Amino acid sequence: MISPAEDLLAGSSISADLVVVGTGVAGLSAALRARELGLRVVVVTKAAIDDGNTRWAQGGVAVVLPGTGDSVAAHIRDTMVAGAGLCDEIAVREILAAGPAAVAALRERGAVFDAGPDGAPELTREGGHTALRIIHSGGDATGAEVQRALAATAAGIPVLERTVVTEVLRDDAGAVAGIALLGADGESAVLPARAVLLATGGLGQLYTATTNPEVATGDGLALALRAGAAASDLEFVQFHPTVLHGGPGSRGRRPLVTEAVRGEGAVLLDVNGAPVTTGVHPLGDLAPRDVVAAAITRRMAATATDHVLLDATGISGFARRFPTVWAACAAAGIDPATDPIPVTPAAHYHCGGVRTDTSGRTTVPGLYAAGEVARTGLHGANRLASNSLLEGLVVGTAAATAVARDQAVTSPPGPPRALATSQPALDRDDLQRAMSAHAGIGRDTAGLESAAALVAGAPQRHIRGVADAEDAALTVVAAALLCAATARTETRGCHVRTDHQGSAKRWRRSSTVVLDAAGRPVLDEPATAVVA
Ligand SMILES: Cc1cc2nc3c(=O)[nH]c(=O)nc-3n(C[C@H](O)[C@H](O)[C@H](O)COP(=O)(O)OP(=O)(O)OC[C@H]3O[C@@H](n4cnc5c(N)ncnc54)[C@H](O)[C@@H]3O)c2cc1C
Repeated sequence: MISPAEDLLAGSSISADLVVVGTGVAGLSAALRARELGLRVVVVTKAAIDDGNTRWAQGGVAVVLPGTGDSVAAHIRDTMVAGAGLCDEIAVREILAAGPAAVAALRERGAVFDAGPDGAPELTREGGHTALRIIHSGGDATGAEVQRALAATAAGIPVLERTVVTEVLRDDAGAVAGIALLGADGESAVLPARAVLLATGGLGQLYTATTNPEVATGDGLALALRAGAAASDLEFVQFHPTVLHGGPGSRGRRPLVTEAVRGEGAVLLDVNGAPVTTGVHPLGDLAPRDVVAAAITRRMAATATDHVLLDATGISGFARRFPTVWAACAAAGIDPATDPIPVTPAAHYHCGGVRTDTSGRTTVPGLYAAGEVARTGLHGANRLASNSLLEGLVVGTAAATAVARDQAVTSPPGPPRALATSQPALDRDDLQRAMSAHAGIGRDTAGLESAAALVAGAPQRHIRGVADAEDAALTVVAAALLCAATARTETRGCHVRTDHQGSAKRWRRSSTVVLDAAGRPVLDEPATAVVA
């Protein structure tokens, strides 16, 4: 299934109806549908096929299965409550209603979910859900199974591994005409294409501590912004309340302790043994993530520590039910059967992203986005747990269908315009420290402005390899996120302002950011409409 990038870079005349950038749940769902529709599809990933966020997903897929007593209406309600007034209700309805069929298709493709004695999928609960509706695989290894099943089905589709996309190219009329890319040894090439689908995942690497793997550097958002697309809800970065605490000053990807551990009875205690969420929310430790993460952050400040404790000693068979968490704890010398697990919040999921409709169409003709990089309106100001794998399946598939429909009624693009070879790029450590200090949980004007000033002073860098491309992406994405976060002078969902503590009615709307002619982020009001 892997076509070496060298074939392409050696000058073979590959061109595509659709280039899919990314091999997670959204990218592979799109590629599979594109192949079914007879489109010439090429898939590109800057790492190995399974190196994205998808493989790491633990808790599961939120979906309403027939005969469970649950309803799509209840799932919609829970999603809208978690989204804190910013969900697009039409998008929520469309995506969640398509969930059961998408999960059935995934099972037909070979994905196996944990089943009870009656053979029906076992259901669990996560924060913000009022019903048992999360299906899971391998206990807490759901993403690995989704990734495995999709990749196995995608055999035969050309996939360029270790090839980083550095630019979405457009013709003189502004329509997408292809991509620029760099191979593993820094060799550059242009791949002409009628459409590009960005399925590049999240941006957790903007922060010093994250649940996201190394590839989550916001590339797709940067590519889209530079190609002229609009992005919305960028200020809403969800911090997972519970990652395994790595000791003072620990950096990089941290092992997640899935919410399902709390769903099965574990309780959050501070270092003095007092409950963390009592009186904070009716759902207690299973309140939506923003609520729990903010409660933990407050309690860490009050107890002058950098972690709280998750007491899972009451869960029997922990190692069997949560093998991934158990292994991470064991590696750190913790036995969840007898020891409380030290946990802390970390950057986890970007609720905002490239503004799209529920078929992945952006504001740029020929450019599509799906999965975590996109902002469909499903998540609003705070994603409901386990809604993202579902969104990737549904919108990834719908985007490929939209590409085929759009190409049936539009002409091919003209030749691509010349591309930029240098971009502003900050040192990654400096950027991560500034974003963690000023754009994490608890933001204020002074901090946001100081981070924005640092980013605005980023020097130009020649883009010679993957690290340069990533640093440039992180820099422009940080600038856009800070622009949106500074403007939103209220606290809503996972955007917590210490200088504006309540929610404001006038802010019950999404913000939209575009780049101006000089490449600086500016607010774009009212929101730009998506186009076919
Ligand atoms: C630890 C963890 C646990 C999670 N648990 C759950 C859960 O239980 N349920 C749930 O619904 N969600 C969960 N999530 C969120 C969910 O996993 C992600 O939102 C989802 O998998 C994103 O899928 P994606 O297809 O959008 O991107 P990804 O799976 O992240 O894939 C991104 C792809 O893009 C490629 N790429 C990026 N930039 C470039 C570039 N410039 N050029 C070429 N290729 C590029 C990468 O190499 C990769 O192939 C979890 C996330 C994490 C990190």
